Amino acid sequence: MRFECRGIPVSDGIAIARAVVLRPVEITPDPAEIAPDGAEAELSRFSEALAAAKEQIEALVESAAERLGEQQAEIFRAHLSVLEDPVLEETIQNKITQERHNAPYAIAEGIKEIAALFQQLRDPYLQERAADIRDVGRRILENATGAARVELSCLTEDCIVAARDLTPSETVSMDFAHTLGFVTELGGRTSHTAIISRSMEIPAVVGAAGVLEGISGGETVILDALDGCVVVDPTAAEIECYEGKRRDFLRRREALAALRALPAQTRDGKRFELCANIGGPGDLAGAVKYGAQGVGLYRTEFLYMNNTHFPSEEEQFAAYREVTAEMGAQSPVIVRTLDIGGDKDLPYYAFEREDNPFLGWRAIRMCLDRRDLFKTQLRAILRAGVFGKLRIMFPMIISLEELLAAREILEECRKELRAEGVPFQEDIEVGIMVETPAAVMMADVLAAYVDFFSIGTNDLTQYTLAVDRGNPRIAGRYDPLHPAVLRSIKRVIDASHAAGKWTGMCGELAGDLRAAALLAGMGLDEFSMTASSIPSVKKQLRDLDFSDARALAERALAAATADEVRRIAGPRGHI
Ligand code: PEP
Ligand code: MG
Repeated sequence: MRFECRGIPVSDGIAIARAVVLRPVEITPDPAEIAPDGAEAELSRFSEALAAAKEQIEALVESAAERLGEQQAEIFRAHLSVLEDPVLEETIQNKITQERHNAPYAIAEGIKEIAALFQQLRDPYLQERAADIRDVGRRILENATGAARVELSCLTEDCIVAARDLTPSETVSMDFAHTLGFVTELGGRTSHTAIISRSMEIPAVVGAAGVLEGISGGETVILDALDGCVVVDPTAAEIECYEGKRRDFLRRREALAALRALPAQTRDGKRFELCANIGGPGDLAGAVKYGAQGVGLYRTEFLYMNNTHFPSEEEQFAAYREVTAEMGAQSPVIVRTLDIGGDKDLPYYAFEREDNPFLGWRAIRMCLDRRDLFKTQLRAILRAGVFGKLRIMFPMIISLEELLAAREILEECRKELRAEGVPFQEDIEVGIMVETPAAVMMADVLAAYVDFFSIGTNDLTQYTLAVDRGNPRIAGRYDPLHPAVLRSIKRVIDASHAAGKWTGMCGELAGDLRAAALLAGMGLDEFSMTASSIPSVKKQLRDLDFSDARALAERALAAATADEVRRIAGPRGHI
């Protein structure tokens, strides 16, 4: 039945395909005891579910290795080893034979117990297995109860994925060859799902409240991620109309590609650096294709998230070397140290539950507490820098003490490498992300201790306005064009320039066409964004006079409301 709904378009494009719905079903097994002669039947129900899970995971290992690479396959190999552990089988069998539980209840309880045991162990590697155990347990339980699971990592035909929400790990493990678009009920413009969709250039609409009420799976869906519209079971005329809109969009995108070799320079000669945000070596092709002058943000957390264990120094070194060597010595790459926690979990590490994870143990806070993890990463970055030009950037800094502590650990790594005779990049530049109001207010002090700033407007907006960046209920209040955010940006740029340093921006605002002229006028030196946004931002800058941009920025900084800023900035167009 025809159904239409709206959401927030977060990655430009239009897709038309059948829907696949990811609807995790809550399974709550009945605790009823089995009949005195029922154990045999429950045991075989369990062993069939176990065997089926093994087969499914083996197929996943194969398909993931073939379609997505060895690293993705490793995640499922780890699941296989959990499944084959005899303790798991014995624990569940005992629950059936001795405690007289039915198979689903025995599986649920057994998994809960084993996962809890692992979580209490002191060895961090073993602790991290708890997440694998839960995931495998869920699979066995689904098999035993007949609950269906949709495998996003090996889809067999083109589709649009619809879900209530997608965790970053779910998004990362998606089969991008067959995912033409996605729509979620939750999420906002800067949720990590949105960011990944932009870097993969997959049209996406998030915050589409109620969309799952209209989709049950298998229907044709039009996903208009230019205007944020989702049409389920469209008419033939609608399909034809959107096919045309899609062709126009692709043509415009093609035309912008012609700007690739031209500098990001205003008509009166003021130049800016346009760089790409990447999540790993896989995003480099896009950065090169769209003419990025460097990488302004390498989100290294994906190397950790898309893994079964904390990546070793060698694994990290290999990834960073690939990125830096590919970009070349003329194109600097800013590597952000681990920014995990908040909405970013690790499949193999159980973060303690926190009431306010965005204000909790995340990013640099975790790294300063876990020096072992931090040093592994810093050593890998320093070593990889030899192959090109790397810069290090610390996230979520709120104080000079944190910055100095991080720098001290970096210095320790340098000393170690020197003593070991291992080559590393001696002249590596060090910067911080300015994404907390504290860093904004202290920018003049912090500037003396860094080589550069990069403004993270995704978090800076969230923390300045006290508006959760992922909460759809208050998404209307999440506004990076709020004058408070603009004034913060200006303050940071001015503080860096006064100290002879430069400021970039790697939050989503850097790729927002409404903001390009304002940011240029405020004196931002570098804009780093999803690679595919580079051509349209470049076009805006090339069509500008710097003197006009400055005047525009001045007016915006004097504005009383975000709406006034928007009026001054002018309408936002698609490419
Ligand atoms: C930011 O906060 O603006 C940023 C770039 O970091 P992330 O989106 O990864 O939190
Ligand atoms: Mg951030």
